[in-house]
Parts: sequence; C-alpha cells; structure tokens
Amino acid sequence: MYLGIDLGGTNIAIGLVDEKGNIIVQDSTPTLGTRTADEIIDDMIALAEKIVADANLSKSDIKAIGIGCPGAVDNQKGTIVFTENVPFSNFPIFDKFKKHFDAPVYLENDANAAAYGEYVVNGEGKNIFVAVTLGTGIGGGIIIDGKIFKGSNGVGAEIGHTPLVLGGVRCSCGQKGCWEAYASVTALINQTKIAIGEHPESLMNTLFKERKVVNGRTAFDAAKQGDKVALEVVNKYIEYIAGGLVGIVNIFQPDKVVIGGGISKEGAYLIDPIIDYVRKYDYNQFFEPVKIEPATLYNDAGIIGAAFAAKNFL
Ligand SMILES: [Zn+2]
Repeated sequence: MYLGIDLGGTNIAIGLVDEKGNIIVQDSTPTLGTRTADEIIDDMIALAEKIVADANLSKSDIKAIGIGCPGAVDNQKGTIVFTENVPFSNFPIFDKFKKHFDAPVYLENDANAAAYGEYVVNGEGKNIFVAVTLGTGIGGGIIIDGKIFKGSNGVGAEIGHTPLVLGGVRCSCGQKGCWEAYASVTALINQTKIAIGEHPESLMNTLFKERKVVNGRTAFDAAKQGDKVALEVVNKYIEYIAGGLVGIVNIFQPDKVVIGGGISKEGAYLIDPIIDYVRKYDYNQFFEPVKIEPATLYNDAGIIGAAFAAKNFL
C-alpha cells in the first residue's frame, strides 16, 4: 500500500493506493492556506494516520508516501522549496514525516503528479504521454519512457506559459500572451464576460442572471442551445486550446494526449473539434494522428500519481 497526497491551495486530499493504482480509502481536509506551514503539515500527517487506521492497517503496511504540491520541490533535501498559494519556503517536509512514518517520502510538483496518475491509468505502454489540465491555469505534465520530464532544472513542462500571442493578454505569471491566458477556464470566463458585455441579448446573460455567476459552463450551455454569440465564444476558446496543443504535438509527437479539468466533462463536444483542428494544423500529416482524449481521473489523478511516483521513483 502507498499513500498519495495531493496538497492543493483549497484542500489536502489523501488516498491509500494499492499496487494496481486503486484508491482503497480517501479523505480530505481544508488546507486553510493562511496558516503556518507547520500547522498545515500537522493536519496532513493527522489525516494520513487516520486513513491508515480507517483501512484497518498499521503504518508498517505503508511502503512509500508520495506528495504532490504546487510549486518547486527538492527531493534531495526533502524540502518544499516554494509554493504560490500556501506558505512554504524551503520547508523540511521529510523531517516532519519521519517523526510519524517509517516509509520513505517522495515529493513531486502537483501538475506532474496528476499527469503521472493519468499515465499510470490511461497511458500504459505509451512512450510519450502528455496530460493537460485546464483549470484556474493550465497544468501539464509530460511523461517520456515512463519518466516525468522536468527539464534541466526541475521546472520544465510548464506548458501553460508557452507563448500563444506575443504581447497578448496578461498572464498570472506576469508575462503576456501565455497559452494559459487564453485557454484556461479563467480565460474562458473572462472571454464569456466580455461577450456578455458586448451582447447583453445573448442567452449567456440570461444564464448569468439565473445562476448569479459566470463560470466555465455558461458559454458551453448557451452554445448548445443555439446561442450564436456563445457559439462564437466556444469556438474561439476551442481554437485557443487546439492552437497551443499544435505546438506541443509538433515538439513531442506524443502517443497520447489527455485533456483534464472540469471542462473536459464537456466530452466530445470539446474534444472532437480540438482533434480536427490539431489534425489540420500539426506537422504530422503523414503518420498516424496523435490520440487526444478526455482525462478520466479528475481529482483522483493527483493522489494516484503521487503514490505511484513514490512507488516507482524512490
Ligand atoms: Zn504565463
């Protein structure tokens, strides 16, 4: 058995994962990121201990513990170097766990962990596998020959910050025109709000007034009911996603790309036009087209990926 831990800005999710990648027991607790790092990790360890007890196991049954967290980690030193939404700065997380568990701990960036989880479940036998998560930003991970590709310095595969439009929309990273600034769900929400402002007669405005919120579903729901303005928003958004993907496909020519995040629940309505666009514009016109599919694990990807990274890389 392995423990997979997904430390997020909102929640800490932990699962007990078996050799085959099944989650046996899982639970979560709010991160409450304004607390100190020590308080957050104490809660994390307490929840991990509770999960082991809930499964009627003892700590000696745990072979390894994997932790995915946002930002940069250092497995040599056993520290979380920095994170954006939670207050970690060179935090010695291995030392904290050693006081409670004998099992070794492995640290991974959360987007890489989630990508590895998708790979474990959906990418077996694939030499080059890419996972893209469309959410608040764009997370991604690239698995090459079973290893997580991290670049020369550990912070590679930041696919969300590849430039799509030079000098374009301001991105969360401080630069302008990143893929994330056009194709994340945050970007879609902004695009939807602008369209509602310009076309108050659109069904999107009606949905906004009914639901009191503009979210990633607003434009999709209105487009499916035939609203022309919403259809334009959705088509443009899909083009932004696919335009960024063409670059990734041309560099890596992956065996498979999975697209995750809540938006991937739109299924074929989202994925099919992306496939068509990538097939039309990618460099590979002579070989088998790249497989692009919705991710399947949703929130469990981070838990399974962290657990299996610990299982396979320690
Ligand atoms: Zn950026």
